[in-house]
Amino acid sequence: MVHEIYAVKFAEYVGTRGGYFFNAPADAHETPWPIDYFVWLIRGEEGDIVLDAGFSAATARKRGRTHLRSPADGLRLLGVDPATVPLVILSHFHYDHVGDLGPFETARFVVQDREMAFWTGRYASRAEFRHVVEVGDLHDLLQANYDGRLWFVDGDEELFDGVEVHLIEGHTPGIQAVRVATAAGPVVLAVDASHFYANIEGDAPFAILHSLAGMYAGFDRLRRLAGRHGTIVPGHDPEIMRRFEPVPGLEGIAVRIA
Ligand SMILES: [Zn+2]
Repeated sequence: MVHEIYAVKFAEYVGTRGGYFFNAPADAHETPWPIDYFVWLIRGEEGDIVLDAGFSAATARKRGRTHLRSPADGLRLLGVDPATVPLVILSHFHYDHVGDLGPFETARFVVQDREMAFWTGRYASRAEFRHVVEVGDLHDLLQANYDGRLWFVDGDEELFDGVEVHLIEGHTPGIQAVRVATAAGPVVLAVDASHFYANIEGDAPFAILHSLAGMYAGFDRLRRLAGRHGTIVPGHDPEIMRRFEPVPGLEGIAVRIA
């Protein structure tokens, strides 16, 4: 079954190349490197599926990010009512992906076993891990679990005909990419398994990682998942807004990936 895919931009920031690429040369810490924050809409016969929940204005203020609109408001511009979305796939538990679950009042959330285990486990509070999550977001996820609203997966799984999640371990222990069947062929939404085109195209690991070998393996995985005719879409690249067609009337806000 084929699906449509849209990227909705809700926030932006300008970091540095050195801050984003593993083992970058010293002068790269002076090179500005813009980053965009997206939520993704996958539209098919089974209803609207959202990939990732973004983060709130409060988290944006705390972390100095420019919050352009709430992820929910971005989705509303595409005619989606977040309160009735049945399913939200959460790629991983970093603050910029699980930081605004509230508007998805009735959704179930698809999470990897390993991601939940890690962020409720032994090493989650250590500084280099702690600073990329908000504990309040983890509270929300625990509440969702006890409310029976989590759909746990372990590894690779087909959620619906034409929508699959794939465990890619490098950036976090349980990060999952999503492969979607579209009229233009398979599209692999890499999320943070490749933040930028420069990661996957340059075989260049991102600076924040759980496993360096896992990240390289993840690049290989993404390429295999896309195959010869598929498209890999990175998770945070501002280039996405230029490479794909804007949704009419939503220029600079939403593009149609397929
Ligand atoms: Zn991210």
